[in-house]
Amino acid sequence: SIYQLQDLVQLGKIGSGNSGTVVKTLHVPTSKIIAKKTIPLEKNNEIILNQLIRELTIMKSVKSHKNIISFYGAYYDNVKNNEIIILMEYMDCGSLDKILLTYKRLVNRGFIDSKLKNWFNDSLILSKLSYAVLNGLDYLYTNYKIIHRDIKPSNILVNSKGQVKICDFGVSKKLINSIADTFVGTSTYMSPERIQGNVYSTKGDVWSLGLVIIELVTGKFPLSLNNNNSNHNNNNNNNNNNNKNKNNNRNSDNDNIINNNNNSPDGILDLLQRIVNEPSPKLPRDNNNYQFPTEMIDFVNKCCIKEEKNRSSIHELLAHDFILMYSDKLYNKEFKMWCKMIKSYIKQDRQFKREDIERAKFE
Ligand code: ATP
Ligand code: MG
Repeated sequence: SIYQLQDLVQLGKIGSGNSGTVVKTLHVPTSKIIAKKTIPLEKNNEIILNQLIRELTIMKSVKSHKNIISFYGAYYDNVKNNEIIILMEYMDCGSLDKILLTYKRLVNRGFIDSKLKNWFNDSLILSKLSYAVLNGLDYLYTNYKIIHRDIKPSNILVNSKGQVKICDFGVSKKLINSIADTFVGTSTYMSPERIQGNVYSTKGDVWSLGLVIIELVTGKFPLSLNNNNSNHNNNNNNNNNNNKNKNNNRNSDNDNIINNNNNSPDGILDLLQRIVNEPSPKLPRDNNNYQFPTEMIDFVNKCCIKEEKNRSSIHELLAHDFILMYSDKLYNKEFKMWCKMIKSYIKQDRQFKREDIERAKFE
């Protein structure tokens, strides 16, 4: 690898997930900012370790692509900490789940008016994000026969140059060897065929993309465990006040999807059976008075078809009108401006957090 661990200085934690922790890191000799992911290994877990090393070898061989996170190297430290370290490209706007949370926090503070400006109520943005994900998936499968298997908001990264890239193909998922282990949260983007243990293809990633789009637009995971209303077609934002008690504050507290975790096995099984048995999730017909273009509605419907064989393929979706309608160069500029705006809002959000901490000190 071009990077040596002793040349790295950790700048701050970015986040952590089921398998490890990601830290913003400076490579001192080149002044380059990179992301460093550390995956702790349990003792005696040689099977997993061997799998991981095999997968890292594949990752190393993947040539760079505009929609794939660049891989800078991997290290196995069994002497001190028994952990795997992966170095990769740093994306300064973070992942889509973080961007969504930033948006919600700024709305809660009254800094942005959700009525005027829903970041994801803009079909151009969703089209560009979808294109990037599909293009990255297509590249991985066409050239390396890699199926991603873990498309979700936290694995779709954005930078202020206007680039969108997918990460975490290959590695973390093999670490996770049982379904139960993957349920640290309340959501899963797994397709019905995968839950049922059937053979699955790249179309599993298409299903996940459909759910991601609905989540970005509505602000919540479409098959949420906390949503006791079995009719998913009207679980959109503002017009159902007849929810059961525990959902009463749903619209006022935008962060409640992360506070209301239900990790019990019942909850997990309930979620899995919903994905398999309930009708496909859909875009709300009207979101904050924003009407989605028919192309976008059709696109999401085609991603969320439950039968794998009827679902659209990556290639079909890359040629879908929802993607083509924004293919003009002009729209790339607009998307880039959006990314720059996101970056400035992230800074604002951080500033607010610092102020909160300062205020708390004097209270
Ligand atoms: P899970 O472990 O369930 O897959 P996750 O994707 O959130 O969840 P990690 O892959 O460990 O967990 O990533 C933690 C967080 O770090 C992500 O949510 C993302 O916001 C951030 N992140 C990961 N890679 C990068 C990167 N290359 N640049 C910037 N931020 C990153
Ligand atoms: Mg991840």
